[in-house]
Amino acid sequence: MAKITLENLAHSYLPNPKSEDDFALKELNHDWVDGEAYALLGSSGCGKSTLLNIISGLLIPSQGRVLFDGKDVTTAPTADRNIAQVFQFPVVYDTMSVRQNLAFPLKNRGMEASEIARRVQKVAAMIDMEAQLDHKARGLTADAKQKISLGRGMVREDVNALLFDEPLTVIDPHMKWELRTQLKKLHQDFGHTMIYVTHDQTEALTFADKVVVMFDGRVVQIGSPQELFERPAHTFVGYFIGSPGMNLFDAQIDGNTARVGDATVQLDGAYTAHGKTQLGVRPEFIRLSAGGEGIPATVRRVEDVGRHKIVRLDVAGREINAVATEGEEIPADTNRITFAPGSVNVYADDWRVTPRGTDA
Ligand code: ADP
Ligand code: MG
Repeated sequence: MAKITLENLAHSYLPNPKSEDDFALKELNHDWVDGEAYALLGSSGCGKSTLLNIISGLLIPSQGRVLFDGKDVTTAPTADRNIAQVFQFPVVYDTMSVRQNLAFPLKNRGMEASEIARRVQKVAAMIDMEAQLDHKARGLTADAKQKISLGRGMVREDVNALLFDEPLTVIDPHMKWELRTQLKKLHQDFGHTMIYVTHDQTEALTFADKVVVMFDGRVVQIGSPQELFERPAHTFVGYFIGSPGMNLFDAQIDGNTARVGDATVQLDGAYTAHGKTQLGVRPEFIRLSAGGEGIPATVRRVEDVGRHKIVRLDVAGREINAVATEGEEIPADTNRITFAPGSVNVYADDWRVTPRGTDA
């Protein structure tokens, strides 16, 4: 296992990149802590695979260095990095049996037969393929082949890191949950450094200790699921994480107050914010009221989604969402919204601003 350091790393697929826009991966400095489980989350095309392939050695970055435990591996081939990588689509040997496929990475390293048999059996149980061990891979469904790929990624216990690039895409929904649980268990048992790429926030938040959120080639925030929920560093994180995502209100910021339209919102500290200034408030922290203080709002409709209700509001012509817990009353004559104490984040040009005199 290893700590993985990315130093001034950036990548462009163009031979002569001129501006930042030409980079699929914008400059990044980060230490992936040894033994931690990370999710790399972002929408399609934001640079997740580019970053993963640089770590695994399938791609040589156009700028910067990759270090494993302090050793420069930037240009080292994948085989020398001692990592396992699982891709979105199956990579299996069709003419081999499931057992031979699973054993392959171990046989390759000259492991003793009894030890190979033990590991293969264990992994076969994890991917629920014990009954098919002697079937040829050819003829199996895409789903089953992908499970073999996953098993091959999981079978070695001595790897520096395990990298998964959207590995459950072709797996059916029920099995997805099961396999994710197995991956989590594998992490608990062996403490490998794991990086799991996904565009699915639920998958990211349930799998990882730390979530790395990417947007448009840039890592915009690295944090625990709770940090991403409470203090989104960028409006994209607020919008991408949560269901529905964080609401944004255009606001003028003046010290510890904000003006939203004609209403005044008290902030929890004094802020200096320039450019496009906004308040971000999650739907869970929007309170509905009739009359009194607050921002004028009207209820458009209420959607009952089981455990809670989503209230769609109109605030100065824009849709704002509130979440009402079961049993929470929605006043029939709602015409104001207020924010729960401590729930307001201030943004300037989409980046979160911290109150003066703090770094929280
Ligand atoms: P993700 O995995 O998040 O979907 P990728 O890392 O695959 O994103 O792609 C990031 C950007 O780089 C995209 O704009 C994509 O079109 C571009 N890209 C990816 N691979 C190549 C390539 N081999 N050559 C040129 N452009 C590429
Ligand atoms: Mg990808």
